[in-house]
Amino acid sequence: MTTTYWAADIETMPREHMERLQFELLAETLRSCLQVPHYREGLARVGADPRDVRTPDDLAALPFIDKSTLRSLQPWGIQAVPLEDVARLNATTGTTGLPCNIAFTRSDLDNIGELGARNLTAMGLRSSDVAWQCYGYGLWIGGSSLDRAYERIGATAFPAGPGRTSLAVERLRDLGVTVISCTPTFALLLVERARAAGIDPATDWNLRVGIFGGEAMTPAALARLSEAMPAGFRAHNTYGTTELGGPFVAGTCEHAAQQGTFHVWADHHLIEILDPDTGERITEPGVRGELVVTSLQRQGSPMLRWRTRDLTSWVEDSWACPCGRVAHPKISWISGRTDDVLKVRGSLVMPSQVEDVVCSTAGTGAGWQLVVDRDPEGLRATEATVVVELVAGADPEVAGELADRLRDRLGIRLPVVTAGPGELPRYEGKARRVLDRAELADVAPAVAARLAVDDHRPSDAMAR
Ligand SMILES: [Zn+2]
Repeated sequence: MTTTYWAADIETMPREHMERLQFELLAETLRSCLQVPHYREGLARVGADPRDVRTPDDLAALPFIDKSTLRSLQPWGIQAVPLEDVARLNATTGTTGLPCNIAFTRSDLDNIGELGARNLTAMGLRSSDVAWQCYGYGLWIGGSSLDRAYERIGATAFPAGPGRTSLAVERLRDLGVTVISCTPTFALLLVERARAAGIDPATDWNLRVGIFGGEAMTPAALARLSEAMPAGFRAHNTYGTTELGGPFVAGTCEHAAQQGTFHVWADHHLIEILDPDTGERITEPGVRGELVVTSLQRQGSPMLRWRTRDLTSWVEDSWACPCGRVAHPKISWISGRTDDVLKVRGSLVMPSQVEDVVCSTAGTGAGWQLVVDRDPEGLRATEATVVVELVAGADPEVAGELADRLRDRLGIRLPVVTAGPGELPRYEGKARRVLDRAELADVAPAVAARLAVDDHRPSDAMAR
């Protein structure tokens, strides 16, 4: 199979060349960080002279920046250029507080298009593709970034944004759309809505590529989604955030998509994976840690050691790929966020692990939730119940099978409660998989009421 590149010289650069380039770019980034009072003071506080930073180990001496710091610096944040050079302000979605503004220069916006074009080309897109674009517009950077990327490669894009599901399921058919960009959760919703409207995605749609992102996803969930799509459909994964300058920090090639990994564009991002508790750098493959990113070409809002809170790991072949992008390291797909990890009876439970088990168990439907009980302060989870929809006619023994498979995966037995088709919420953007009981009662009152009754059953029945 021949590989197609958007920027072959950069994409196929040898690793040693890339490392030299990265440190030239890092020196420039540090110089521009000195224009930002927050960084200037932070560097002075630890006695760091940017001119001494030459290797990744030197980087480890520099301070981090995180969401709470960024929030405290609003409204202008960490703007490193004069106002006349700022072409656009975007903001984070603000799900965990006030939105944070991020500044973009014209060059920053061009780079979004450039990285997007690399991602889309690596995913096999061509100028003859017709794309249905459902990432959000407005403050969030997702939708406008995909527009830039589609435009750059010359594909035909329809900027639908999230929602409009009845229009989408018909137009996907009538326009012969070949590419969709959205959260995987939204794609699953479209599949369900299509079937309800008498449209079979596998035969009535012409989709061949999904550009999925915006939330953690597991290979099992994507496999289930792909099964519903036309034969030969490829599910790809793109990673990024507004703080990191857009959704194209990393993306899958054909091989990475099969592997559950993606390539990080190393001429724009210098990454570290750290133990979220100790801050120690992780170098061995397969050990999960927090992704920390230093931007290398951002002008508007450069990021110095940005703590993403996203969990990932190095993989055995991080620096090798049959696609030839060997200087752009592969890391595992984001498996969750440091704040999503629950500790239940001493065991760590990640929503992505539960999703992986639910989606690879036959008979389960599209909706599932982790419902937690918390301690009186509302901070720590003390118990978690898996609530999962079964498809019509599913074997009732599925609940027991799920509980067994979850125990094998998590090391503890979680109660499993089943719900009927359509009883649990659907999401148009990012799914919220962890809810407390009051939140469940808001979105699925009938299920919440059954859960409360189940609690009074003997404990062996509860374990089902
Ligand atoms: Zn590759």
